[in-house]
Amino acid sequence: MRECKRCLLRQAAEDDTWASVMEKVEKIPARDRVPDGIYRERLEACSSCDYLISGVCMKCGCYVEFRAAHRRMKCPDAAARRW
Ligand code: SF4
Repeated sequence: MRECKRCLLRQAAEDDTWASVMEKVEKIPARDRVPDGIYRERLEACSSCDYLISGVCMKCGCYVEFRAAHRRMKCPDAAARRW
């Protein structure tokens, strides 16, 4: 994986890493997932955040493409929560 500031995993990772994370997203039960529009908005917010490095949030260590898919998850930056 190349280090890419403000890149989502989809843009920065090897295909197998990306596929593995998306497989985990697909396994989140529908009732626990955000609608597609909200998911896209969350990822857009992450894409302009200084804490995003190669798809990983430096605040929490999560792949944002996974974290953002969960209905109950929040952006971990309590001081300036973006979603
Ligand atoms: S701090 Fe929030 S907006 Fe920034 S990368 Fe992490 S989850 Fe995304």
